[in-house]
Amino acid sequence: MTAGSALRQGQALLEGGGVAEARLTAEVLLCHALRRERVYLYSHPEHELSTVEWLHYGRYLHERLKGKPTQYITRRQEFFGREFVVSAEVLIPRPETEHVVERAAAVAREARRVLDIGTGSGALAVTLALEQGRELVVATDISAGALRVARENARRLGALVRLVRTDLAAGLGGAFDLIVSNPPYIPESEIAHLQHEVRDWEPRVALAGGADGAEPYRRIVPEAERLLRPGGWLIFEIGFQIEAAVRAAFGPRWRDIETGCDLAGLPRVISGRYAP
Ligand code: GLN
Repeated sequence: MTAGSALRQGQALLEGGGVAEARLTAEVLLCHALRRERVYLYSHPEHELSTVEWLHYGRYLHERLKGKPTQYITRRQEFFGREFVVSAEVLIPRPETEHVVERAAAVAREARRVLDIGTGSGALAVTLALEQGRELVVATDISAGALRVARENARRLGALVRLVRTDLAAGLGGAFDLIVSNPPYIPESEIAHLQHEVRDWEPRVALAGGADGAEPYRRIVPEAERLLRPGGWLIFEIGFQIEAAVRAAFGPRWRDIETGCDLAGLPRVISGRYAP
């Protein structure tokens, strides 16, 4: 079996199973089985698969057909130009979350002390640690499994991040210049309607945001008031349904509250400045 025909067969199988982007997915899974970059497939379509490669490829296709997201099979996802390790214990970093990094660069470029609440894979904390000269980056998560993944990413990418297992920011002290968070924000009633790859595979603790989706934000704002220095920034990722609720959560001690949209034109980040 050559790589070229393995690709065609894989694509047909995935298409038959209703998997979106069947060709691309087959390429990614075949590369993972071959432990090669994608460009190799184009330069070596005649590559003969070894038995082991063929078995791996077959297993990956089978897993994808059962609904497992490609990133949980390859254990990789790119975020802000870097490759992150992921496992089923963390939310797969989304391109939308890069808007949080961009907003941080726009309003809080000089922030020296940064806190990421609910870091998951560590995508935000690691990226923020590497993008600017920081003095301290702290990242929290309630999940020990997530912190293991975040630790691996920090180590692999050479970022200095202090990881703390706690619920949101409970027990933390200190004065931060910037707090970021992409908390769970799917309203309870919408969980059942999520894409099945998300609903059945990604961690519920990273998705479910209580009755209206904004509960984590109402808990984080008071923590931010405790942990930010006056003039410090809080930057959230949000879902488009909860913009009004999150704006309301900021309360009277905040200024310069501003929403930013993602590439689809939907509200995706909110930043505010703590002005007690
Ligand atoms: N963006 C994710 C989704 O739509 C949700 C992430 C979150 O709840 N923080 O599936």
